[in-house]
Amino acid sequence: MTALTDAGWLVIAGLGPGAARLVTPEVSDALATATDLVGYGPYVARVPARENVVRHGSDNREEIDRARLALRLAAEGRRVAVVSSGDPGVFAMAAAVFEAMEAGDPAWRGLDVRVLPGVTAMTAAAARAGAPLGHDFCAVNLSDNLKPWDLVERRLTLAAEADFVIALYNPVSKARPWQLGRALELLRTVRAADTPVVFATAVSEAHERVDTVRLADADPTRADMRTLVIVGSSQTRLIARPHGRAAFVYTPRSAPSAGTS
Ligand code: SAH
Repeated sequence: MTALTDAGWLVIAGLGPGAARLVTPEVSDALATATDLVGYGPYVARVPARENVVRHGSDNREEIDRARLALRLAAEGRRVAVVSSGDPGVFAMAAAVFEAMEAGDPAWRGLDVRVLPGVTAMTAAAARAGAPLGHDFCAVNLSDNLKPWDLVERRLTLAAEADFVIALYNPVSKARPWQLGRALELLRTVRAADTPVVFATAVSEAHERVDTVRLADADPTRADMRTLVIVGSSQTRLIARPHGRAAFVYTPRSAPSAGTS
């Protein structure tokens, strides 16, 4: 990557799951030179204060407006950082910026736009549990704000049949109270009752909580908006530990043939 220039630029930066030490040095450098911060209010608030930085915090549902604003500011010569939690390319602002670019002013395509990766919730949560993503996995966003629920169900069914480990982002929100319960019901029809399920909440923050339960016992009310759920494959297993320590959850790197699993 070439050095950032004095002309306007736009970076779409991932802030990681929460802890400051999980922000990459590349992201910290960009935030230290930005003139404008754009993003969902609580994420903008996570960026360390600096003088003369304009903060454009907004509501969580205004992604496209926010993306257009960021592109306009960069076109005016500002140094703009759009911030997302986790990785900006995973169910977050990077795609919104490209949607806005595709539909917007053709001059925006010539801007210096870069996506700076971050630690996504799925890998941060997996690291706390052990290595549940050690073999093939997929990630499904349970929000049906931008896609119909029947598509979510189809993907979950096929992913379960294909024996992927499944990470569920956005398991619940105030407006979407039943989706996780329905998803777990569906997975129970394909996966064994004792499949490990990890509920990881507020990973890397002070009130972090990580629990592993059997699929049969998975309670959808355990999840909130800061929870990432990982449903194991047929191979995912536990390593029990002494002294009341939480078991490690892992998925071995090899798998049996499709005919025998
Ligand atoms: N771009 C983000 C995901 C945005 S979707 C990323 O890469 O992580 C928001 C969802 O991410 C939440 O509903 C939750 O499922 C998950 N999430 C974000 N931060 C989290 C954290 N610290 N702990 C657990 N899950 C988290």
